[in-house]
Amino acid sequence: MSEKKPGTGHGRTDCETCGEAICSSKIHKEGESDEERAERQALRRRLCQIDHKVLVLSGKGGVGKSTVAVNLAIWLATQGKRVGLLDIDIHGPSVPRMLGLLGERVRSGPDGMLPIELGALSVMSIGFLLGSEDSAVIWRGPRKMGAIKQFLTDVEWGRLDYLVVDTPPGTGDEPLSICQLIEDADGAVIVTTPQEVALTAVRRSIDFCRALSMPVIGVIENMNGYVCPKCGARTEIFRGGGAERMACECRVPFLGRVPIDPALAGACDEGVPYIQRFAESATGKALDGVFRPVLTWKRPNRNAE
Ligand code: ADP
Repeated sequence: MSEKKPGTGHGRTDCETCGEAICSSKIHKEGESDEERAERQALRRRLCQIDHKVLVLSGKGGVGKSTVAVNLAIWLATQGKRVGLLDIDIHGPSVPRMLGLLGERVRSGPDGMLPIELGALSVMSIGFLLGSEDSAVIWRGPRKMGAIKQFLTDVEWGRLDYLVVDTPPGTGDEPLSICQLIEDADGAVIVTTPQEVALTAVRRSIDFCRALSMPVIGVIENMNGYVCPKCGARTEIFRGGGAERMACECRVPFLGRVPIDPALAGACDEGVPYIQRFAESATGKALDGVFRPVLTWKRPNRNAE
């Protein structure tokens, strides 16, 4: 799939990738050691080869963040884009299962770790480094941060149109470092469910993005109602609702709703690329509708932020 660009490893000191005169990697930051600068340049060189970086965030776990990240990445690939999917959810990497890649291990290339290629989609998950799906990661903060940084720097993506990043839930140290490390991200897609507790969490996520000058591409309300596959009757499972109202109050785009669909849950469990296989289903169309604005999203001018 994607054409690999040679020679982007740690050994070089100049960022030759973007050719920009005022590339941030060339600037010495105050108090930065030579080693820190070299690490920053290596990360910058890697990320320069990727046109768009989209973070998928959620204020709390279990709302469907990984489901959205996986299907967004597949959907972008079906739109003719070269896409990378990076699963950096250290405590619950579910991408290997959702894409039928359980048991895959990281392989090394001449210039870093090689992602697994699935057609136009390249996939890297922290889960590929763990022993089994049941292995718990018991790492202290600095080790987690180191792993995240290494993942961002060392994966040989080659040139990509989009990198979709499945981040750990919440607003703690891990999403914070990802937002800081991917300083030129296009923005964040925030996933929530209709319950009040999830909506409160998503408000925190929006605040978090604001504090970090991370643009919010929009909010997706997942698991909104259940449509019976036999009779078509719709039942609200969670009380509350209001993601659209909340997005409006916070002045961020609302991307739309995705229903609870047992077929989507089953596809995630069985490693079936739902949006590709069931594009014509009601849920497939709902996913298409919430993903389409990502393709047309333009990162706001930083000087205007
Ligand atoms: P998170 O990444 O937020 O922890 P996941 O994406 O892992 O959440 O989803 C949690 C569970 O909910 C998974 O079993 C997934 O298959 C299921 N799920 C997510 N969205 C839906 C949906 N719209 N309909 C049915 N099941 C869903």
